Amino acid sequence: MSTSTEPVHIIGGGLAGSEAAWQIAQRGVSVILHEMRPDVKTDAHQTDGLAELVCSNSFRSDDWENNAVGLLHEEMRHAGSIIMSAADLHKLPAGGALAVDRDGFSDEVTKRLNEHPLIKIERGEITEAPPTDWTSIIVATGPLTSKNLSKVIQSLTGEDELAFFDAIAPIIYKDSIDFDICWFQSRYDKEGPGGTGADYINCPMTEEQYNEFLDALASADTTEFKEWEGTPYFEGCLPIEVMAGRGRETLRYGPMKPVGLTNPHNPNVKAHAIVQLRQDNALGSLYNMVGFQTKLKYGAQTEIFQKIPGLENAQFARLGGLHRNTFLNSPKVLDSELRLNADKRMRFAGQITGVEGYIESAAIGLLAGHFAVAERTNSAITTPPLTTAHGALLNHITGGHLAGNTETGGKTFQPMNVNFGLFPEIEIPKPVDGKRLRGKEKNRAKRRAVSVRALEHFDGWLDNTNTASV
Ligand SMILES: Cc1cc2nc3c(=O)[nH]c(=O)nc-3n(C[C@H](O)[C@H](O)[C@H](O)COP(=O)(O)OP(=O)(O)OC[C@H]3O[C@@H](n4cnc5c(N)ncnc54)[C@H](O)[C@@H]3O)c2cc1C
Repeated sequence: MSTSTEPVHIIGGGLAGSEAAWQIAQRGVSVILHEMRPDVKTDAHQTDGLAELVCSNSFRSDDWENNAVGLLHEEMRHAGSIIMSAADLHKLPAGGALAVDRDGFSDEVTKRLNEHPLIKIERGEITEAPPTDWTSIIVATGPLTSKNLSKVIQSLTGEDELAFFDAIAPIIYKDSIDFDICWFQSRYDKEGPGGTGADYINCPMTEEQYNEFLDALASADTTEFKEWEGTPYFEGCLPIEVMAGRGRETLRYGPMKPVGLTNPHNPNVKAHAIVQLRQDNALGSLYNMVGFQTKLKYGAQTEIFQKIPGLENAQFARLGGLHRNTFLNSPKVLDSELRLNADKRMRFAGQITGVEGYIESAAIGLLAGHFAVAERTNSAITTPPLTTAHGALLNHITGGHLAGNTETGGKTFQPMNVNFGLFPEIEIPKPVDGKRLRGKEKNRAKRRAVSVRALEHFDGWLDNTNTASV
């Protein structure tokens, strides 16, 4: 059995690796942090600093009462996060968002980790499977994991379980869909394994609406691939606008085929095309647009997809995209403590686990750090409750996401930002004047109630894990 004097090895000094190193060292366990830069570079990083922000300098909304990413910030602050404390120290004016001076931020993280007596930073690429005397490892090598290490990971997980591009279709909050227009039904009422025969939400289109939709797709702006990303199209997963460009009937014979479905609101009229949405999380609060992976710019996606009948007021938990992104089929290959089923010495953290975003990546680093400390100190590992932002994210990557597309046999796990659709429902407290809340006011009250509950439960979880590992 390992002792707490043995270090935890962390591979990758990005957002997740830096946070994990800090959490572990602050709890009295030593760390060796392996970072390949500057010896080996990635296509996006520019410096040799730890926790470098590769693109935007924004950590998005900092409003913990109304925004799930703001809530994640706040939970991380409660856990003594280095990423949040460096961000708060180097923040720049950005309205309700938390934007940072990227160099000041990265320098701060690098300095604090360098100066920590329990952290040793070793520069150099890890190219092979970890040696047997590394008894606790956290792999946090991010969306641009080096090719050599990717091969090692694939040899452990199986080739199909590590993806190199994401292909994300927009995801919509179910409660923003208009069911006076849409209806639940599976094509030909097929139940399939685990289904009910009414698993899809269907949005019907007339011929005129379909033609307008095609014209809008044809004239919309798309995001270009970066030169180093290549063009990762494969036939089973073409962007919707590329399919539409192949001919006016292509979508009607593909993801928008109108067969095997009857509109209960209008049973005698056959729809010309139908957009289908499939449940995306076990809670049933999120639905993804089937076959709608896209490179359209975000503004164009919202504008065009809100023209689909029934989606006029759709709220998007995330918009679609296609990027270079190395990530695991985590629900299959990781356990609930982020350990690799094939080699329990190894935990994964950050974007490679299937979360998306700077803060989400750092948050999973924070959790991996806590779990590694508990293991090193022979304490029980508890995972944060599903009602917390950390717990909701962890649940998405290790179980909450619905795996396996029964129709195509393919995998549906795709990276996800934190959002309120990942949290369990809550009863909103009744206003003191007894009046029923509606619309925006109701949503606001609901978000606040979810956030207050989350912070309370997160603090409880922290108290437990901190006491257990002292
Ligand atoms: C081009 C691009 C732009 C992005 N823009 C944004 C954005 O604007 N906003 C946002 O929220 N998110 C963005 N993301 C997504 C994501 O949140 C960030 O990539 C984030 O940095 C992920 O954190 P991480 O710690 O998982 O990985 P990283 O921060 O990338 O850290 C991984 C580290 O591992 C090192 N490494 C890799 N392989 C090895 C190896 N074999 N041995 C040793 N070290 C290794 C790398 O050098 C790197 O330092 C972007 C991603 C990409 C690729």
